[in-house]
Amino acid sequence: MKAVVAQFEDLAQHLYDTQGELRKFINIYVGEEDVRQHGGMDRPLREDDEILIIPAIAGGTVSSPEFDREEFLRYSRHFSLPEIGLEGQQLLKQAAVLVVGMGGLGNPASLYLAAAGVGHIGLVDFDVVDLSNLQRQILFSLKDVGQPKVSIAKDRLESLNHKIEITAHQEALSSANAGRILADYDIIVDGTDNFPTRYLVNDICVFQGKPNVYGSIFRFDGQVAVFSAKEGPCYRCLYANPPPPGLVPSCAEGGVLGVLPGIVGSLQAIEAIKRITGAGEPLIGRLLLFDALAMTFHQVSISKDPDCPVCGENPSITEPIDYEGFCGVSGVEETVTTPEMSVQELKDKLDNRADILILDVREPWEWKIAHIDEALFIPVNALTSRLDDIDPSVEIVVHCHTGIRSAAVSDYLIKQGYPNVKNLSGGIKAWAREIDSSLMQY
Ligand SMILES: [Zn+2]
Repeated sequence: MKAVVAQFEDLAQHLYDTQGELRKFINIYVGEEDVRQHGGMDRPLREDDEILIIPAIAGGTVSSPEFDREEFLRYSRHFSLPEIGLEGQQLLKQAAVLVVGMGGLGNPASLYLAAAGVGHIGLVDFDVVDLSNLQRQILFSLKDVGQPKVSIAKDRLESLNHKIEITAHQEALSSANAGRILADYDIIVDGTDNFPTRYLVNDICVFQGKPNVYGSIFRFDGQVAVFSAKEGPCYRCLYANPPPPGLVPSCAEGGVLGVLPGIVGSLQAIEAIKRITGAGEPLIGRLLLFDALAMTFHQVSISKDPDCPVCGENPSITEPIDYEGFCGVSGVEETVTTPEMSVQELKDKLDNRADILILDVREPWEWKIAHIDEALFIPVNALTSRLDDIDPSVEIVVHCHTGIRSAAVSDYLIKQGYPNVKNLSGGIKAWAREIDSSLMQY
């Protein structure tokens, strides 16, 4: 037996330990007999004996030039999964994943991708850490407030796993740079919180033939899907175009349970890892709906739309588009076309006892934080049932927090025939800043 091993140059080091003993995690069979129980390595062999060398699979014993000792230990729980194993871990190491948005979703998604050993992770975000982020964005600490999100996240992920490469893209994704940035990655994890970037990411993924691991959160509800136009629908197959600016509140206005993005971002990381390793069934053609209040997961089938404007048979969108006029996108205030009133104008009108109706369309919790005493309070979703409370014979000024939702409501009232409607520029935020500093700002 020993003589046979000696005929193969590199074999002995794998079979014997430094004392020359057969390694504990290696079993050698001659025919169906374990050599340990049948003569050991001194056992004589016959011409037609068949030798089987069987290493222990879950013990991380298979040597590979692609992983060093630290990596074998670090990823040992992956090596023991048949669906991942050495080969899957190697695929993870070779993969490049771009996480768009380092908010509530991008934080847990990038943390798990880094821990899992994805070899190259890109992070895109133009913003700095804000105190209000700490409720859900788990990579950041109090000392990071005011610092660029991507550089803090890069440091944090590198301290978790120095075996991988992290690239920080500190810029806002736009039609000008998105194609170039996405080109370097195999899979895109969409953790954006605004429609322009979501559509931009979707369209470029379709153009570049890349899977787009989508997640979104609102209040207590989450959605996850994998859009891959080669095999299934894209985001535009589901929602061909964005809703009008202002009709959908941003997370800042609508609120979000802090733990919720932890669940949804982790689900996105799972889908990215499955996609890279080929494990399991991808979430393609299915939309997963998570309701944290009811604590339920549901899924609905979604199918490819042959008339989809970007992945359909005759696409009308063939290059990236910048949508404007949305929350979280610069230039929002300027793109509102509704007649506007400044907070100073409103102050003058109130001082002169003008006949004016101030309509506050925010949510009840926002009213409790701060409100203008003279205002009539009707939250947006109660508006259609309470139009009778709004006097059409007087001048109406509509306000919300920053002027986005109220602009949509102003448009709506004008279309309903109210002759004299204006939107309060900058909302109650501007009012608190410029007119009444006794009001709490949020
Ligand atoms: Zn499509």
